[in-house]
Amino acid sequence: MPAIFLFAGMTRSCATAHSMNSFAFRLIRWQKQHGRHDLPWQGADGMTRCAQASGAGMPSPRLLPQSAGRNPHLNPLPEGEEAIALSPSGGKLDRGLAITSDLASVVGSPSRMASSSISNVSEADAYRVWLSEIMLQQTQVATVIPYYQRFVASFPTIAALAAASEEQVLTHWSGLGYYARGRNLHRAAQLIAEKHHGEFPRQFEQILELPGIGRSTAAAICALAWHERRAILDGNVRRVLARYCGIEGWAGDRKVEEKLWQQAEALLPQRDIASYTQALMDLGATVCTRSKPKCGDCPVHSDCVAFQSERVNELPTPRPRKAVPERHAVFLLLLHGNDILLEKRPGSGIWGGLWCPPQFDDEAAARDWFVRNGMTANEGVRLETFTHTFTHFRLHITPLKIQLSRKPLHAAQPGSVVVGASAPLQPRRTPCGCSVWLDVEEALGAAIPTPVRSLLQKLTCRMG
Ligand code: SF4
Repeated sequence: MPAIFLFAGMTRSCATAHSMNSFAFRLIRWQKQHGRHDLPWQGADGMTRCAQASGAGMPSPRLLPQSAGRNPHLNPLPEGEEAIALSPSGGKLDRGLAITSDLASVVGSPSRMASSSISNVSEADAYRVWLSEIMLQQTQVATVIPYYQRFVASFPTIAALAAASEEQVLTHWSGLGYYARGRNLHRAAQLIAEKHHGEFPRQFEQILELPGIGRSTAAAICALAWHERRAILDGNVRRVLARYCGIEGWAGDRKVEEKLWQQAEALLPQRDIASYTQALMDLGATVCTRSKPKCGDCPVHSDCVAFQSERVNELPTPRPRKAVPERHAVFLLLLHGNDILLEKRPGSGIWGGLWCPPQFDDEAAARDWFVRNGMTANEGVRLETFTHTFTHFRLHITPLKIQLSRKPLHAAQPGSVVVGASAPLQPRRTPCGCSVWLDVEEALGAAIPTPVRSLLQKLTCRMG
């Protein structure tokens, strides 16, 4: 195919004819040879594979605390830690403390009879397509696979997922980030159980109504599970189309997004939509990557605007830069022996529904809370401040490790602390919902966010 010469800054229509040389044809042919065919959510036996492979390399999720053996001794202060002054009387905190063939198979056969592994996806597989699509939002395939396998092994059907508790779901999501996805998945499963008799809805509009499912995800499920002719536009596809079609401007801009959707619709093949959809995903994930795309291996480089006009590094247009807000927080790592106090966070907001140490805006607020709850401490240590980056801000967290002389029987308003390592989770009249004492090792198996996991892992090392 002759190369198309384009001048820098030029954009051409990508609405090419449905021919052997069409964008879609070349992608599908490429996918059959070079695409991914062994992902756990592809193929009729995927569920079995998942069940067999579940848990590989992952810690077993545990839901609720059970008391375990204790090591009452914490190691001496490691390098980088700073001792916190405690008041001499009773060890209270000091107030002054700064604490994603051939021609016949591609265009000549009905799409539902296509021969790729993708075509093996049946109605019953909508669940795993849905699950994988949700997990793959914001997360790389390699990271998703073990989570997906564990998740499907524990919740093999929509009914099983709907019947699970949010705690169980979040425990399986722990470490994957963007926890609203897990909560929405759970709520959606319950809605499917209530409104659709437990069967995944087949209509695009019904799918779109489910929590956590946007236009592209609903289209991907329709295309991959139901072989319905729908366009997708996830992050990877935006990048491929921006480059292939030479669309300038940040994809977050509504007009730019509309152009991308128009091209995504215009490039759709008439048949074999599932293979095409998977091909787009595979190309974006393995060839047309964010950095160092492998244009030499790309099936559409002969008429890719970005490649032909040497603008691959300029497209897609990055998000306009703006200052990222910096925030600060203090974590109180309240320890008694090997037990640590964790609070359940509110259902919405960062780390919603997960377990974290009590968090405060600053050390003065932490100290005030500590004193008001009549806690006494044997030892207080300020650990090194670390930074966790969220989508819209950076959070600098200073952990204060406090070894309590005894567990508090009561906490002052706004609620009471649950006492006892094996105590069931009980509601607490605070924005955080409830709190619980957990053995640090067992807390690692609970629904906790990644930075808390790192902190607890360090604590277990120090506890020996
Ligand atoms: S030629 Fe390069 S930039 Fe264009 S679609 Fe292929 S990989 Fe992406």
